[in-house]
Amino acid sequence: MDPGIICFQHCGPKVFCFTLPESCPTCHQDLNAADFSLLPFRVPYPFIKASQYPCAVVIKPTTGDFLNDYHNSKDLHIGVTTSDGRVVEFDRQGLRNHRSAHWNQCLLLEQAPGPWWEHWDEVLGAVSAQTCWSPEIYREDTHNCFSFVLTFLVTLGYGKLSGAAKCKTVFCENFIIPRTSSAGKYISLYRRLKNGVYVHRIQ
Ligand SMILES: [Zn+2]
Repeated sequence: MDPGIICFQHCGPKVFCFTLPESCPTCHQDLNAADFSLLPFRVPYPFIKASQYPCAVVIKPTTGDFLNDYHNSKDLHIGVTTSDGRVVEFDRQGLRNHRSAHWNQCLLLEQAPGPWWEHWDEVLGAVSAQTCWSPEIYREDTHNCFSFVLTFLVTLGYGKLSGAAKCKTVFCENFIIPRTSSAGKYISLYRRLKNGVYVHRIQ
């Protein structure tokens, strides 16, 4: 899933690419014998596979993926994982607890440590059993994926995360915006790189 963005500096500006070019795109010197002012390194990929993060809160775009389809935080879908890496999500199809390839490129908001896992699964089971998570009661704006996850987190009683979950705005400001804005830098870099090489010239 990681497209493998490489960053280096040779004679000045930062250069981003998927594979190291033969010569520097700025000064055209052969890079085989070159002195880099910043040695090539892999830019950290910010996304995760939900199944590899038990007892976590995760977000992804409602449709498509972050790298190609994400525009702004209005189209986010939120879910939680169980201790065995299944995703529990509430949407127009109702509540589902499943393994899904749609959660292979998401952002991790928070993951609970091992001692919490049993309690996490119990509370998740209890909240999932509430009858209000049915497709008939689902409303895109008022009774949606966030309603389910925030209800779960408040019931869980897990420190700052549960405190913030009492108010959607506070939760977004503290847990979502910081993750999406840092991932946004990676996303815009990836999109610029569709043409091969991107030279970041500072004006
Ligand atoms: Zn150069």
